[in-house]
Formats: sequence, structure tokens, C-alpha cells
Amino acid sequence: MKRGHPWLFSGAIQQAAPGLTPGSLVDLHDGTGQFVARGYYNPRTDIAVRVLAYSENEPMDQAFFERRVTQAAGLRRQLLDADRTDIYRLINAEGDLLPGVIVDNYAGVLVLQSHTAGIDRLLEPLAGALETVMKPQAILLRNDVAVRAREGLAKEEPRLLMGEIPPGLTVQENGLRFGIDPLKGQKTGFFTDQRDKRQALQKYVGRLPAGASLLNCFSYTAGFSVYASQACPTIRTVNIDQSAGALEMARRNFELNGFDPARHVFEATDAFKWLEAARVTAQSYDMVILDPPAFAKSHREKDKALQGYVRLNRLGLPLVKPGGFLLTCSCTGAVSLDEFENGLREAASATGRSLQILEVFENGIDHPVSLTAPEGRYLKVLFCRVL
Ligand code: SAH
Repeated sequence: MKRGHPWLFSGAIQQAAPGLTPGSLVDLHDGTGQFVARGYYNPRTDIAVRVLAYSENEPMDQAFFERRVTQAAGLRRQLLDADRTDIYRLINAEGDLLPGVIVDNYAGVLVLQSHTAGIDRLLEPLAGALETVMKPQAILLRNDVAVRAREGLAKEEPRLLMGEIPPGLTVQENGLRFGIDPLKGQKTGFFTDQRDKRQALQKYVGRLPAGASLLNCFSYTAGFSVYASQACPTIRTVNIDQSAGALEMARRNFELNGFDPARHVFEATDAFKWLEAARVTAQSYDMVILDPPAFAKSHREKDKALQGYVRLNRLGLPLVKPGGFLLTCSCTGAVSLDEFENGLREAASATGRSLQILEVFENGIDHPVSLTAPEGRYLKVLFCRVL
């Protein structure tokens, strides 16, 4: 595994040192006893070791994490315009050579998430490094995610590690303003992985005629709809999400950008049921967005996830006007782009529509994927014309 995949499966271990517990730091040696890598161990998981470093004698101290955070911050500084975007993923786990760690930066409020026992044990030097390198207003630990169960870890209440979160935190993405609730918002508060897709959307709606319409299913806080309103001020958006709190923030996001939320529709309901009802009343839209949550947490549930995409796109496609656009997404890591396209083909055929794929996106540039850990490539987004 020299500079190879940063995971070692339990079956590949010939001999483990005695006394190791979930989260122990370990050095990996090959059959000849030569050092290969350093990482952390969990005897409870299929992935027994996640690699943090490939050099010997590299202690996992604050200086180590400062080097990693500096490297990650440098990429974002280089590729994002800080005057227009102050919200981004700072650390994307394996993609930033820190397996098990997610850090999002919301205008100086860092939201940190640990997915593994190994990282739980290294929190102190990690948080110290974030504080030293980033000089944040606050660091919030949000270990309230289900993936922790895989490592035998409980969900935890959000905990402030330093500083204070300003009330009514407002951030900027591509010059547009959004309210964020890092304590209660979904994920860590915002879906920064759609930034480039939100921007791309503007060209699809920018030259639509007056009175055009956009259906935004699984809208969360209406990021896509706010971008659409900037590109096409007369557009009417319909925002569907099961979370009433998200839609309340969505209204506020329209206001924050000088758009009147009264021109738009917000419905807190199940999107599948809403779509079924909309078909009965033969509604149609110039553009439809389908951005559901992940339908599977593991490869075992992949078929279920694929069926979910077929069903959802079957419901969404009939609502697109002929010649209109569909933006359809999958953030299920277990479903590949090919498989997602197969599902879309099935939905198109079942609804008698022809689709032209216009653009394909994956994770954004602040969600880097390690070439050796392609599992990090979870997001697939297709912009299509529907005939
Ligand atoms: N497009 C959004 C992100 C969507 S995340 C953005 O750009 O920010 C998925 C969203 O789906 C979440 O807001 C969640 O509340 C919502 N959701 C999950 N299941 C749902 C369902 N059955 N019906 C409607 N909304 C649902």
C-alpha cells in the first residue's frame, strides 16, 4: 500500500500488536518488517486501519495537524475568491489526507466532525491546529452523525470547543448571502458541495422568459432558488422540503438577497407525495431540481438506492415542460455515475421522455478526492434537457 489506498482491511493483517483498542495509533509493516505507513486502528470495523502518514517517525501531534490544515487551507485560498465566498469545506477526510475528519468553515466558524475512534482520540491536537492555523471565531464539534455507529461510537450533542458562534450567522457564497445555523442545520449547516452546481444553474434559467418557473425538490434552505432568482428576477420558485426549519431559513435567504419571498412557494412536506399529487394536477415547470438525501449508507443497500432514483426521476420528469431542464443529483457514494445514468434511462423510458445530458458535475473543488481513495467521489449531478 505504498502511497496506495489509505485503508487497510482487517483480512490483510497478519499480526496485530497485543493490547490495541479502538482508535489506537499503529505503524504498519510489510511481510519483511519494513515500515509502510502510520495510522489508527479499529478492531471493530472492516476497515481496520486508516492511514494518516507514510513517513516514519512522524508523531501525530499538533505540528502534524498544522501541516495538514495549512495544506488544505492553501488550496481553498488559491481556488476560492475570499471576497465573494467565505463558506467552504476546509478538510474533506481522505481527500485532504485526514481520514475520519470533516471540517467546514462558515465565515470563521469551524464545524468539526469526527467519524472514527482514531480521530476522537486525536481531537485535542487537531482542534489546537485548527485554532492556530485558522484563527477562527469558534470551533464547534458536531458529532451527531449516524456514521459514527459504524465505529461503535455514540452520537454526541454539539459541543463548542472554543470561541462563540455569533447569533444569526450569515455567510457569502459567490456574493449571495445565506443564513446558517451550525448548531441545528443539516449536515454541518450548509451543503457547500453544490456551490459550483448552483452557479452553473444560472445559465439555464438566466434567459428564460418572464414568468418562468423552477421546482426545487429537497430544497433545504433554497440555495438553488436564490441563485435562480439572481439570474432571472421574474422566476417563480417552488421549494419542497420536509424540514419546516429549513424552509423558514429559505424565506430568510430570499430576503437577505433582496428578493421577495412572497413571490415564491415553500411547502414543508414529503417530496415524493408532493410530486405524485403534482402529476395529477398536470403541473409543469421550465426547470426541475431533484437533490434528495443519500438513499443508501452502504453498498449493501445499493439496489434500494437505485430504485429510489428511478422512482424519484419517474415522478419528476413528467413535470418538466418539453425543452425544459432537469437537474438531477445523487449523493449516494455506493451508486456510481454509470449506475445513476442507468436509473435515469429507466425513468426516461418509463415516462416517454428523451434526455440530453448537457453537463456532469461531481464534488466541488473544496471536496477533493484522493486518487487512491475514489470512494470519496460521492456526488453526481447531471444537467439535462428534457424533450
Ligand atoms: N439542495 C439542497 C440540499 C438538499 S439536502 C441545497 O442545495 O442546499 C436534502 C434535503 O432533503 C434536506 O434538506 C432534507 O430535509 C430533505 N428531505 C429528506 N427527505 C425528504 C423527503 N422525503 N421529502 C422532502 N424533503 C426531504
